[in-house]
Amino acid sequence: MERLQFIKDALEERKHDGLFRQFYRPGDGVDFCSNDYLGLAAVTPTPELLKHHGGQGTGASRLISGNHAQADELEQWLAGTWAAEAALWYGSGYLANLGLFSCIAGRHDTILYDELVHASIREGLRLSNASAFSFRHNNLEHLAEKASLAKGRVFVVVESVYSMDGDSPDMDLLVKLCRERGWYLIVDEAHSLGVFGESGKGHTFNPNWADVLLARILTFGKAAGYHGAVVLGSALLRDYLIQFSRPLIYTTATPASDFITIKFKLERLLEANQERERLQQNIHHFKRRCDGSKIGLISSESAIQSVICGSNDAALRLTQALGDAGFEVRAVRSPTVKAGTERIRIILHSFNTAEQIDRLVEALSNYKIWMKNS
Ligand code: PMP
Repeated sequence: MERLQFIKDALEERKHDGLFRQFYRPGDGVDFCSNDYLGLAAVTPTPELLKHHGGQGTGASRLISGNHAQADELEQWLAGTWAAEAALWYGSGYLANLGLFSCIAGRHDTILYDELVHASIREGLRLSNASAFSFRHNNLEHLAEKASLAKGRVFVVVESVYSMDGDSPDMDLLVKLCRERGWYLIVDEAHSLGVFGESGKGHTFNPNWADVLLARILTFGKAAGYHGAVVLGSALLRDYLIQFSRPLIYTTATPASDFITIKFKLERLLEANQERERLQQNIHHFKRRCDGSKIGLISSESAIQSVICGSNDAALRLTQALGDAGFEVRAVRSPTVKAGTERIRIILHSFNTAEQIDRLVEALSNYKIWMKNS
């Protein structure tokens, strides 16, 4: 038996199930798949801004000697701009969620999370000592029911825009419920930053919610067009995470040039009201055209619009057909999403034109693989 046969077998099984994953370069087709909602990925700071720091490493974790001034400066600027007491940087949104959820609750506590939260939150919950229960997607009655299982402190975890369905919880009601019950609310703002809220500061940018919101997670790989993330919250929370959040403690600090770049891009993001307006127009235009062509979409007000195909095979065939027609879209297969809800996930951007959207909808209506509006 060949030594690596077990790896070959696992790969063959994936292929057989239609689940084989692969990397994609940015393609030549029209971008309907990246999370670069406002087109900021291509915006770069001037060489002048980076001149003292380009290519310079940090040499150690922040707890040894890697805590360059730019890290503290960015965090303070973020906290001030996003009306939080403090901010704490992580190398990615994945690490931020892993680092926060693995340590925030203890074994006498309970975490109640929406069934569609991102893999990075689930991974954090797996490492946590707390009891964790899911509630039905965006269903606050079910959340309240699930609370009967809770012991100790209760933490509620949601995304303000769900990465696969593109929809949002009713934040006003959720905040009210958490306030009444004395629960701690944590919101992942990955797909809301840059798109919603005052100057794109996200759905949960609301200083009146500070008493309920324990933490907000902003990620910078999507609308901000770069990488990294911060946890926003109280100064006490920041100190706590520095003690207990392992993905932060045991990793080399991020280079100063990244902090300079992020700040540059976030300043553009805050100013990008015209791009946000164009994005909203594109979302409305796409939804209206799909409705006119009886193309079934998951109900969503965000840039994430999903066309349900109903099987992995159908989702892959549709992706291929749209790719051949000049569109970059990606299939989302089960088990990433529930069986029966396999889909293509279309991402709209400020820079897509109405003509591109019209052509996409026309191409979609040529392939009757998707499920019709009921
Ligand atoms: N949270 C959500 C809701 C996400 O969609 C993602 C990325 N897909 C992440 C966190 C992880 O962020 P990052 O890509 O910065 O690791």
